[in-house]
Amino acid sequence: MKPRIALIAHDQKKDEMVALGAEYIDFLRGCILTATGTTGGRLANELGLTVARKHSGPFGGDLQIGAMLVEGQIDAVIFLRDPMTPQPHEPDINALVRACDVHNVACATNLSTAHLVLTQLKLATRKRNGE
Ligand code: PGA
Repeated sequence: MKPRIALIAHDQKKDEMVALGAEYIDFLRGCILTATGTTGGRLANELGLTVARKHSGPFGGDLQIGAMLVEGQIDAVIFLRDPMTPQPHEPDINALVRACDVHNVACATNLSTAHLVLTQLKLATRKRNGE
């Protein structure tokens, strides 16, 4: 089964998300990706990744991804949050992170953790595929 990964980056973190995506591009090509609108657009346009795009975060994208997660459709969330900028959809952000905790879904909210999660998922996927 392909890993199902959700990708979200706040505006100040979008460049980091694109760089992260480029670093793991071979692995991500073999995953089922879902993203909030603008993040997904950048990953698709700049890296050529196939990404299911939800609404932009402030318009409910985080909630849509949270709902997928609650339905068991997401294996890990890479959520590069900007801790320095107030977000209009703070309650939605908290709801998504809470849903990850409630359902024990890996949620990387900074780049260091994102590397750990992606590296581990990549290894686990290779092992499962007998590579
Ligand atoms: P965006 O949403 O990818 O559409 O910018 C992310 C967010 O700001 O929560």
